[in-house]
Amino acid sequence: MNGLMMDQPLLISSQLEFASRFHSHVEVVTRTVEGPIVRTTWGTVAQRVRRLANALVGMGVKPGDRLATLAWNTQRHLELYFAVSGIGAVLHTINPRLPPDQLAFIVNHAGDSMLFFDTTFLPLAKHLASVPTPLQHFIALTDDAHMPENSGLPNLRAYELLLPHQPDTFEWPKLDENSASSLCYTSGTVGLPKGVLYSHRSTVLHSFAISMVDALAISAQDVTLPVVPMFHVNAWGVPYAAAMVGSKLVLPGAGMDGNSLLELIENEKVTSALGVPTVWLGLLAAAKTAGRKMSSLRQVVIGGSACPPSMITAFQEEHGAKVLHAWGMTEMSPLGTACRLLPKHANATAEEKLSVQMKQGRPIFGVDLRLVDDSGSVVPHDGTTSGHLQTRGLWIASGYFKSDDRTQHQDGWFYTGDIATIDGDGYMQITDRSKDVIKSGGEWISSIDLEHTAMLHPAVAQAAAIGVAHERWGERPLLVVVKQKDQEITKEALKEFLEAKLVKWWMPDAIEFVDALPIGPTGKILKRSLREKFAGYKL
Ligand code: ADP
Repeated sequence: MNGLMMDQPLLISSQLEFASRFHSHVEVVTRTVEGPIVRTTWGTVAQRVRRLANALVGMGVKPGDRLATLAWNTQRHLELYFAVSGIGAVLHTINPRLPPDQLAFIVNHAGDSMLFFDTTFLPLAKHLASVPTPLQHFIALTDDAHMPENSGLPNLRAYELLLPHQPDTFEWPKLDENSASSLCYTSGTVGLPKGVLYSHRSTVLHSFAISMVDALAISAQDVTLPVVPMFHVNAWGVPYAAAMVGSKLVLPGAGMDGNSLLELIENEKVTSALGVPTVWLGLLAAAKTAGRKMSSLRQVVIGGSACPPSMITAFQEEHGAKVLHAWGMTEMSPLGTACRLLPKHANATAEEKLSVQMKQGRPIFGVDLRLVDDSGSVVPHDGTTSGHLQTRGLWIASGYFKSDDRTQHQDGWFYTGDIATIDGDGYMQITDRSKDVIKSGGEWISSIDLEHTAMLHPAVAQAAAIGVAHERWGERPLLVVVKQKDQEITKEALKEFLEAKLVKWWMPDAIEFVDALPIGPTGKILKRSLREKFAGYKL
């Protein structure tokens, strides 16, 4: 027997229309690429989205067409999120930090017919125009006055000139909720980038889930700042969720440095900010130099790579903002787990609470997790046994775009490529990515643990542990360290500090100081480059 409930598809256009009807006066604030701060509302955004939808249809865009963006977190990018998916086309957000040959590869692989780009990325647009691709239209995300001159780009138009003569009403198509809505390529840290194709259904379900109070708690009570780029896994789904719940949205544009973020957080009274550890390092340093406390901040969501304990303490103790450690991946839309304390931790000591917060957290409803050994058999979730982390759920990729590659799937589960433990309360903790583990004498040493322990030293700004070849043990850890500005420490002193905190066989065999660590296109330390740099290193 069927239930007697209305059968309505889960659609991204409904999120926008909801924002327009019930949160129309809530602000959307952008630090524009042209410079000034632009202030508007969800109501105006929705009108412009409908104009854009009319313009796109008028330009011949059909359901299923892929339209690409090379853009920062801005209002115009937000409008594309809703207009492109709303008409049934697929928004392909490209990471501008990818090497140019990979950009061309993914534009071709995706079959993109239009490119919308911020003027910052004009050189990349020109590169794409100079190689064979299916791109037919180039649209600069700016107004007439700021158009690049003599760009040589075919059919170049200004975004703002697409909108004025269009009606601000649009009849959104009743799409099948399983239709594709957006496309995001993994950063290709191993092999070529792979396309993850999200659907309206997965996106809307993910929006509900991330908004839950035990997840990212996205809410009308908040002023939300997604620092995580809109070219990286849909800015963790925040734009969609913010529309749905009516959160004030603050978009940082190209100003991802510490000082610009600090100014925006203070002026807009941001209460919830989301991003990867590398951007928070910059923000915390800027706040320290300026002697400022970010008093409006209630919550800082940190994910994308493991959050060092020193960062949790800095936000919580110096700025009074709760850190919410979260984990996920492009193939997971991205959210899988969020780390909140449970009632049983109420009387825990500060140190015990910190040790929980360093974990990546508990799964949110819609995501299932398990650990398996090398042969694919399930291993215990006892908090100490580590295994390959697998997932399945409502917003997990079932395959890759135009690919038969099923190597990451097993019996309906997806191999995340992470090595983790899961404890009796369901807290998952990542010890490594499987390709980064350091295997010494057949046992795994957690590079994340080594790095975090090193970063507890006040003179250490950043640390990365990699395995280097060792005759007897196969591999041994080398710790590569960036010193805190204006601070000194010797290798011997750091070694002594670590010896007091690590089991003996985990101790790095060597320490090297460097000026900076290589950072990849999604803001993570590029261990592969480090391994190349230190290939043949003599311990
Ligand atoms: P890429 O593979 O392109 O770097 P993703 O952004 O999809 O792209 O990366 C997902 C991976 O990032 C996860 O599999 C995991 O290794 C790592 N990751 C994400 N969040 C965390 C976290 N909180 N702690 C540790 N690692 C994390």
